[in-house]
Amino acid sequence: MSLKQKTTIEQAAKLLQSASSVALFAHTNPDGDTIGSCIGLKLALEQLGKKVCICCDSEMTSRLKAFEQTEFVSQQFVGKYELYVAVDCSELSRIGELSSVFSNSRETLTIDHHGGDYFSKYNSIYNYASCCQIVFEIIKALGVEFNAELATYLYLGLCTDTGNFAHNNVDSNCFYMAGELCKFGADIEKVYRVFFRDTTFAETKLLAKALSRIRSYYDGKMFLTYITVADLSELGLDHTTTSGIVSYVIDIAGAKIGVCICEVTPNHFKVSMRGKDFSVRDVCKEFGGGGHVLASGCRIDGFLEDVIEKIVRVAGYTI
Ligand code: 5GP
Ligand code: MN
Repeated sequence: MSLKQKTTIEQAAKLLQSASSVALFAHTNPDGDTIGSCIGLKLALEQLGKKVCICCDSEMTSRLKAFEQTEFVSQQFVGKYELYVAVDCSELSRIGELSSVFSNSRETLTIDHHGGDYFSKYNSIYNYASCCQIVFEIIKALGVEFNAELATYLYLGLCTDTGNFAHNNVDSNCFYMAGELCKFGADIEKVYRVFFRDTTFAETKLLAKALSRIRSYYDGKMFLTYITVADLSELGLDHTTTSGIVSYVIDIAGAKIGVCICEVTPNHFKVSMRGKDFSVRDVCKEFGGGGHVLASGCRIDGFLEDVIEKIVRVAGYTI
């Protein structure tokens, strides 16, 4: 295998097979796909008798915490491993504060579905709807037996990254994989309930606040709302509970861009963008962010109204 070449599923499986210890890195602000992929891979590699750790620089969200194995995700990296794997990361910086651990390691593999940088020595990058689909194929190539627990974690990524099989990234492979995972006993009902239904009273009040302040731009082609640090502290919530809000913003008829900006710490904003027939990735890239064409994000620092003004202006170049 030469450097910076695409690594096939079989080659990735061989690399994992030949390492006796593997460190898996999830992306910062983890979602169901990065965590489902990491845990699925960990469970499979442990069946092969390997030492495996999962690290993520951020805390698990309350939704992810409903899945017991997330208890084994560490915010720190300790020890030495033979292979370092970045999971669901389009670029090195997605590993966040643990990026330097990864970049200082020699044997590195990326497993990703965003089509980003080839920042590892080996790069298994496929244009799938979810990273879990690549992991699923790697696990099959490893010859590991599936069980209900393993199937549930892979389903977690597949279901969440496809918006419960409703986004335009869904193809027949997603349903085929879901069918196989269903046969292995994946807990489909739990994943749906935790990620698409369950809420708390405080979260519902936060949603009401966000919905009440949606602003419209460009004759109703763009809608934007925001959450401040003060909103979160008033309701005793943290920023990880705001992830579903942007869906309501893009759902408005006529919207091409929906934006929810959330103040994580004073004057530091996490921006979530969704598009309808419109590339929000291009808008986020202008701010050093990225993601998918129809679902992207970035971080912007500044005063709330300045940040809003910048986003509206940049979106206006292409809308
Ligand atoms: P979300 O709005 O749900 O946080 O993120 C939507 C998509 O954009 C996800 O695929 C996520 O990985 C990606 N994303 C979110 N924030 C950033 C960012 O700051 N940089 C990059 N490169 N991608 C991001
Ligand atoms: Mn993903």
